[in-house]
Order: sequence, then structure tokens, then C-alpha cells
Amino acid sequence: MLRLYRALERRFGPQRWWPGRTPFEVAAGAVLTQNTAWTNAAGAVAALRAARRLTPAALAGAPRRRLAAIVRSSGTYRVKAARLQAFTAWLLARFGGRFSGLRAAPLAALRREMLGVAGLGPETVDAILLYAAHRPVFVADAYTRRVLARHRLLRAGAGYETARALVEAHLPSDPALFNEYHALIVAVAKTHCRAAPRCEGCPLRFDLGGRPPARG
Ligand code: SF4
Repeated sequence: MLRLYRALERRFGPQRWWPGRTPFEVAAGAVLTQNTAWTNAAGAVAALRAARRLTPAALAGAPRRRLAAIVRSSGTYRVKAARLQAFTAWLLARFGGRFSGLRAAPLAALRREMLGVAGLGPETVDAILLYAAHRPVFVADAYTRRVLARHRLLRAGAGYETARALVEAHLPSDPALFNEYHALIVAVAKTHCRAAPRCEGCPLRFDLGGRPPARG
């Protein structure tokens, strides 16, 4: 797993994820990018900032319809507005809106609790925990599962939690490493490991050992 990481790092260099001026902004971006391209979510984050709604108190206090209009560029904007407010209400109730609480709470119980917040699935929860709170949780998204399956590290069709557990078991528990590794996997998935793999020239080709990629 580390050999793959180093090959990706050599090819793509530092990815500097996740863009965001504050942890709350990063978390809002994680919710807004669900099922949409980052450029659409980034537009919604910028609109929230321009409307001065990018603090827990300001976002929680926004009328729902007004908030939905602000995040319109993120697609399914009424759903996104509801999810943003559900997460914010939880953050305010649980930690007074402060990310220091997310950084200090026992991780497994915290993750379970966050998965109970309406509209937060594992990928969103883990992105918030990793990128906003710097907790050692790997975001085992579809790109990760595709690359690992094609390299026979994960069985084809394995679910999110299986992939997350596998990666976390085979890497040092280091949020900075998880942060960069996930960003690098996204980079290789967008450039080479697409729906139809383009292994020619891919930095991970060495790992296939001359075999074709597995189904994944
Ligand atoms: S494109 Fe080929 S070599 Fe590159 S990550 Fe995908 S399966 Fe591996």
C-alpha cells in the first residue's frame, strides 16, 4: 500500500486537500459535494461565504428556503440545505459548534454518532473527520475501491466499510498520510483509472506485474 502511495506521490506531487478556510467550511464542502462535482460544490461554498452563512450559528439560523437558494449550484439543493442544517444542529448541540470537540472525542463512538445525523453517509462523515477534524479515518470512496480492486487488493464489489478497514489496517494511522493518499487516488482515478482503465503511462502500472487489471 505504501509503495503505491510513493509512486503516486512521485507522479502527482502534493495535492493540498481539502480546500477550505475553516474546518466548518471544509465540512460544509463535504456535504455539498455529495453526488456532484467539486466545482459545483465549491460554487455553493463561495455563495455561502458571500452571504455570510459559513459559521455554525449563521447557517443554523438561515431560513431553509433562503439557504437552499444560496447553495443552488450544488444540485439537489433543498436536500443539501437540509443536510447542512442537520449537521450544523448536531455540531452546535454536541460541541457548541467547535471542531475542537470533534478532534478530541473517542473516534469510533464519534463516527457512529455522526452516522446517525440525517443525510450523512460514511463517505461524508469520514471526509469531515479526516479533512476538517484531522482524525485518522480513510475516505474509501468509489475511486479508492476501483483502484484497489483492479490491483487485486480488494475483491470486486466490496463495500465502503470493507475498503476502509483494509486501507486503515495496512497503513500507519496518520491523518496527513490518509489525507494525501486519498487525494492522490482521486488524481490517478481521474487521469488513468477511469471507467475504462488507461494503464499505459499510469504510475501504478508497475504493480500489475504485467497482468491486466482485475475487474473493478
Ligand atoms: S489505470 Fe491501470 S495501472 Fe493505473 S491504477 Fe488503474 S488499473 Fe492500475
